[in-house]
Amino acid sequence: MEEEIKSLEERVINVIRDYVNEHDSLVPLNVQLFGNLADGICDILSPIMDFKTGEEYKEFPIYSVFERIEFLKRFYKSININIDLDDLISKGIIDFVKDDYVNESIYGKQIPRRYGHSYRKNGTKLVDVINTGYFQDTIIAVHEIGHHMDEVINYERWLFNSLITEGLAETWSLIYKDFYKNEHRDEINYLNINRLRYFYEEAKYVRDTIPFLFVYTKYSTIDKEKFEKEFEGINYEEALVRLKKYNPNWFDSKVEYMFSSVLSCYLFYKYKENEKFLQKIIDLHKPIDFKEMEKAIKSIGLDSSFESAGNALLESLKRYTDELINERERRM
Ligand SMILES: [Zn+2]
Repeated sequence: MEEEIKSLEERVINVIRDYVNEHDSLVPLNVQLFGNLADGICDILSPIMDFKTGEEYKEFPIYSVFERIEFLKRFYKSININIDLDDLISKGIIDFVKDDYVNESIYGKQIPRRYGHSYRKNGTKLVDVINTGYFQDTIIAVHEIGHHMDEVINYERWLFNSLITEGLAETWSLIYKDFYKNEHRDEINYLNINRLRYFYEEAKYVRDTIPFLFVYTKYSTIDKEKFEKEFEGINYEEALVRLKKYNPNWFDSKVEYMFSSVLSCYLFYKYKENEKFLQKIIDLHKPIDFKEMEKAIKSIGLDSSFESAGNALLESLKRYTDELINERERRM
């Protein structure tokens, strides 16, 4: 047992050290904010975890690639976003792919587990979207096209851009789902619940890991004494053992996904209040370095005091979750 704790401790220290070296200025400096967000997100989403998985599932319609592209075109046209989908598809920049991903059973059949991917190959930005035929494919397309809209300088993105890229991509898919909420209500409702489940798991991972990041940031090392001094009432060994089930190397992406759950709801409601806000969302795709960060945060109406920003973000997720739960109750 003691040996296991030692090796877990070593593993956690290594991961956290690598993470801090890579992200020296953002999450570690604001570890309290991200810890609060992780706690808050878990609290808000925990009622969703009581729902039986798949209870909202119905038989959803299948659409041809052409129909799905039409859905996308109609959406982008409605919000005046100039994206030449035909051109992007004919050049192979956006591709509907069927295989090459790990299979998983969803909707009662085997489909790829990796739903979409925005990446770079030989300097070209590419977007892969799964090709199941469900409306879901188009939601994923909008998310991935959101990543595709991130501007880069010399292939570089700043830390802030990395932190918010998932949130921006998710915002686009929230706006998209809102546009089709009547036409594709059942499937959207089903997917929304699943999405929140996923965010809960990400937040839980961050919630369990972040106390270690906190201790490391303060002392440049982690041990039982320091940990229990900072987190009275949390048993160090138990906290370490909780991390056993996670792949610690994913910490940075977990933080991004967790953060995306609140940022996207926040930006979505801002847009719903005033459609002109769309331009501010678009502007967030521009490279934003450390100096420009505060300006960017203020531009979207968030207070740069992290406490009030954190509250505003959590309130948006709470509003979104409550709406979803009410909607579900009405329909089930
Ligand atoms: Zn993404």
